[in-house]
Order: sequence, then structure tokens, then C-alpha cells
Amino acid sequence: MSQQKSTAHRKIVIAHRGASAYLPEHTLAAKAMAYAQGANYLEQDLVMTQDGYLVVLHDLFLDDVSDVAERFPGIRREDGRHYVIDLMLAQLLTLEISERVDAQGTPRFPNRFPPKRSRFTANTFDQEIELLQGLNRSTGGSVGLYPEIKSPAFHHDHGLDLASAVLDALKAYGYLGRDSGAIVQSFDATELQRVKHELMPERGLDLPLTQLLSGAEPFHLGLAEIATYADNIGVALDMLMGTNGQTASVEPTDVVKQAHAHGLAVHVYTLRADQLPTSFTDLDDLHRFVFERVGADGVFSDFPDRSVRFLNR
Ligand code: CA
Repeated sequence: MSQQKSTAHRKIVIAHRGASAYLPEHTLAAKAMAYAQGANYLEQDLVMTQDGYLVVLHDLFLDDVSDVAERFPGIRREDGRHYVIDLMLAQLLTLEISERVDAQGTPRFPNRFPPKRSRFTANTFDQEIELLQGLNRSTGGSVGLYPEIKSPAFHHDHGLDLASAVLDALKAYGYLGRDSGAIVQSFDATELQRVKHELMPERGLDLPLTQLLSGAEPFHLGLAEIATYADNIGVALDMLMGTNGQTASVEPTDVVKQAHAHGLAVHVYTLRADQLPTSFTDLDDLHRFVFERVGADGVFSDFPDRSVRFLNR
């Protein structure tokens, strides 16, 4: 099993939404499988219900992963979607969670777990932490949490302080210091700076932070500024690859070198054997590029078993 204490010097595998290649994303089943596959960290995307509970779901809305449209048609918004923030926790927990589909109901990844089979539910952050801590106890392992503060501005607009709730939960479950096994991530730099300079000091917390970068648009802060509040950057795969005109090439960019020069570790998203960038023949070809050629420090992987296996050999 993993030892978080050495993560600063060891490459890590973060189970992206759990073992999401094999079971519906963010279900406790997917998290237990990722744990058993040897992931170093389990990722949680966190959003809030109307009554202020933290739940582990990737989107602000539920349409692509649940039967919400049939169950709660009355909460449909003008954009046609059904939002987590319009449901009470007790209502949300009655939904059937299923493999991700697109707007036409077609599975996003055709060879993964079939939609609408078996029975899965959403879960709260507390329930997932308790699953993880229970497994750490029963197996003697030390797998960590990697929660993401999703769309904090949207939550503020609805009167909910998502970041504070995340930190309160982490503190309640004993995640206090840098080596306690939790890393907090967000795309929102303003909120991450608030976490670093305001919310963590207020609570006596000192957890490592990851600034997520999308690569789709230039980020408004440079790496030197990011390094004043964050420990890691999370970068999209395409930020590691140079481009030949329109097509991404396997010539690496210098983003990892630059980050390391500023003392920032680099965690790359998302590794998927069934959605490889063009010019990679298989997942291990991509592993070699990310870990050996580019020198990244960790990956968010839908296939934690295969990423762990690559690093172990
Ligand atoms: Ca995420």
C-alpha cells in the first residue's frame, strides 16, 4: 500500500472519479475498486445540495449520470437540466446513479459499465471519507483523498460556501497537516488563494493545494504567482504536447520543467485507455510519455490499475 509521506519524491496515481473505467464514476463501488487496485489517492469532485450537504458528483447537474429527469421533473431549469443544488440531500440519495451518457442517452464510453444496470447511488463526502478511512484501517493502507472544490462562484451565488464546507469536513476527519493524506484542488484561483490565506489558517489547517489549469485559455497567473499559494498544478494532457499546426504532437512542451523550476509538482489529467490522444498507440505509450519523457509527478487515471502497474515495474 502507498505511503503518502513520500509523495513529494514518488510518482502518484490518483483514481480519477474512482476506477471510473470499470464502474460508474464517483460511486462507492468505483472508489472501493480503485482502492483495491492500489491507487495512491481517490479523487472527489464536490458540489452541494440545496440544504448544504457536500456530495461527490462531477457536474453541477445530474442529467448525464442519473434518472433525475424522470424522478424530479419539477426542478428542471430553463437550460433543460436538473441541478444538484435544487435538490435536498434526502431527495438526491434516492436517485439511481448510472454510467455517464450524452444528451441522446448514448454511453460516453461504449465499452465501459453498461448504463442502467445494477443499483448505484450518489454519496456524501462524509460517506466517502468513511469508506476510505475504513479501508485504510481494515487493510492497513494509507490511501489519500484528493477533493476538488467545483464551481465555488456558482455556490456562492446560491448562498453556499463550498470551500469552507470542504475544509470543515477534512478537519472533522483528521486531515490537518501536509502529510495527513489530503490534497485540495480547484480551477478557481481566487478561491484557492482564499483557502490558503484565510480559510486554512482560521481552522489551523495546512494542506497541500493543487491549482488546476485547463490549457483551453491562457491562465491569468504565472507559475511564480501560483507557487505562492499552491504546491502542485494539475494540467490537461494537451498542455504537455506541442502542436504541429492543428494536430498535437508527441514533442513535449516545457510546462513540467517550468513548474519544477518553481517548486511545483505536476499532476496530469486525464489518462484513459479508451480515449487516447492521437499519436499514442496504447496507454503505456502514453504513460511513458507522461512519466518518463515529460517527467510529470502524478496522473489522474480512469484506469488506476494500469497506471499503478506501469509505475511498479
Ligand atoms: Ca475533478
